[in-house]
Amino acid sequence: MDLEAVIGLEVHAQLNTKTKIFCGCPTGFGSESNTQVCPVCTGMPGVLPVLNKEVLQKTILAGHALDCKIANYSVFDRKNYFYPDLPKAYQISQFDKPICIGGTVSIVADGNPRDIKLTRIHMEEDAGKNIHSSDISNPVSYVDYNRTGVPLMEIVSEPDMHSGEEAFQYLMNLRKILRYINVSDCNMEEGSFRCDVNISLRPRGESKLGEKVEVKNMNSFKAVKAAIEHEIKRQTIMIEDKERIKQETRLWNPDKSTTESMRSKEEAHDYRYFPDPDLAPISVTDEQIEAMRAELPELPIQKLIRFKDEYALSDLDAETLCSSRSLADYFEQVVSTGIDAKKAANWIANELLSFVENIEQMQNFKVTHEMMTELLQLIDSSVISGKIAKTVLGRMVETGNSPKKIVEDEGLTQVTDTGAIEAMVDEVLKANPEIVDEIKNGKDKAKGFLVGQVMKAAKGKANPQMVNKILAKKLS
Ligand SMILES: [Zn+2]
Repeated sequence: MDLEAVIGLEVHAQLNTKTKIFCGCPTGFGSESNTQVCPVCTGMPGVLPVLNKEVLQKTILAGHALDCKIANYSVFDRKNYFYPDLPKAYQISQFDKPICIGGTVSIVADGNPRDIKLTRIHMEEDAGKNIHSSDISNPVSYVDYNRTGVPLMEIVSEPDMHSGEEAFQYLMNLRKILRYINVSDCNMEEGSFRCDVNISLRPRGESKLGEKVEVKNMNSFKAVKAAIEHEIKRQTIMIEDKERIKQETRLWNPDKSTTESMRSKEEAHDYRYFPDPDLAPISVTDEQIEAMRAELPELPIQKLIRFKDEYALSDLDAETLCSSRSLADYFEQVVSTGIDAKKAANWIANELLSFVENIEQMQNFKVTHEMMTELLQLIDSSVISGKIAKTVLGRMVETGNSPKKIVEDEGLTQVTDTGAIEAMVDEVLKANPEIVDEIKNGKDKAKGFLVGQVMKAAKGKANPQMVNKILAKKLS
């Protein structure tokens, strides 16, 4: 049977505000348990939540960046359920009147460009965190309320994707945009970007959706992709064996690379949503909505087009540099000093990035844009050769020292003294008479060997243009 997978994603992105959504508690990650709490976020009786304005502004900004319609009128609701990490026994969320409606995330997957549709974006508060002891002889559980009330945006896609690769590209692009507009750190390890998958299969051409399975607990985009690919295989086998797929929630097991049943639909919650009586409906005027739109920075796709146009960069270099806003800014800071753009692009996108595993690491990188500029200026003014510059860059990454200091300390200054280079060339010619004969008999290629020998004698520090020139003169 020809089956088609239908995939929808629910992403929870933590907004990077300094304080929580309905109280003044800080949101920093990694603090001691239960030190970032107050009566509001621990759900004490009689307290009143007050909406953090920045949460609304950042969510509207995200809505603009993702081409959503921003609602003039939206409402906070109580989502009722009981769990130890939720002291109020309800979560403040948005139900049928979310702040952002519709929207798209553009992707290219397997060479095909597509616009993935969004259903909505809404604001909500996070719950706390249960911590279970791993000591079997002492089975206790603790709860940390630091995360309670941390602001989240839930970004819900339509069931509009059909493969693990499409879901992967969707997450990559969504994260890139949210980071560009500085509304979320989107750090999966710290839990500030979490993703649940809804997946079902149906005969290709059928418009009705099949029974859907929800998959949770993926801690990387690669895991999301792997979980989807595993589910497609599992459900295909079941359908081919004429087994019924039941609606359920499954957990991704990264050690076994499989999904495991967690709970069936029969046990699912009825959340009994109703408007939160403590929070007034949110009313935003068209003028306010437009004013937020004007605050949108240049988005990744716009920057990519401009970089190719303004700096005549290759597609690959432009894409690498635009993959993060801080990297793109880094490049433009170097270029603003008058360094040739293509040269800067090559040194940043290829040489510098070869020292980091991923672009996020750039943030705590020792090599500042001023240091990179200084390095490229040393090449431009022939103080060092490009080859030596690579060595210097390696030292810069290791030590955080400036390129000038490294060149001075390690005696790497390029030899540009004509007399010194001539002497080395003479030595090499004398030591290789048969090569000289070959060249005189028209075997021009052999010149490269002699250049190499001179560079070796100079420990890589001779100016290569001068070596070539002097060698050519002596051989003619
Ligand atoms: Zn609080």
